[in-house]
Amino acid sequence: MGHEVTHGFDDQGRRYDEEGNLKQWWSAATLEHYHAKVQCIIEQYGRYHMPQLPDYAVHGFNTQGENIADNGGLRAALSAYARYTRRHAALAAAHPRVLPGLPHYSPKQLFFLGFAQIWCGNSTVGALKSKLVEGVHSPNKIRVIGTLSNSEEFAEAWSCPKGSPMNPHHKCVLW
Ligand SMILES: [Zn+2]
Repeated sequence: MGHEVTHGFDDQGRRYDEEGNLKQWWSAATLEHYHAKVQCIIEQYGRYHMPQLPDYAVHGFNTQGENIADNGGLRAALSAYARYTRRHAALAAAHPRVLPGLPHYSPKQLFFLGFAQIWCGNSTVGALKSKLVEGVHSPNKIRVIGTLSNSEEFAEAWSCPKGSPMNPHHKCVLW
């Protein structure tokens, strides 16, 4: 849900007003700020490669809308989850729960595992190549590592060392 709502504020959705009409309704200063933040995401994703196709980088520009939505969606979901846990803190304290078979993972770790697991899958090298050349979505693996490596909460939940691939010093945050 967070992903789809964020599409309303990506490189395409931002061009429409609240009536659904094509209209530039942002101030010049907002647009400038937006472009600087989007550039971070375009460059970040443009640096990713899949091991099967070392000569093909992810197309950072063509995939920007989906990457913006993935990143904004994760943040929206995290904030909703934080609100939920605050509301139900007393209940959780009275009846602590763990998932059967996964008792060693914290609720926050399970949140991120759930996010990553959406994108488990496999594809042929040919399908992957056409996705990289003409797709608007990054390959599934990149949708996971690109988004999670921008999340301070992820790095904290999994104790990723500062400066490691999943916890880079410089993170791209738009929404
Ligand atoms: Zn999307």
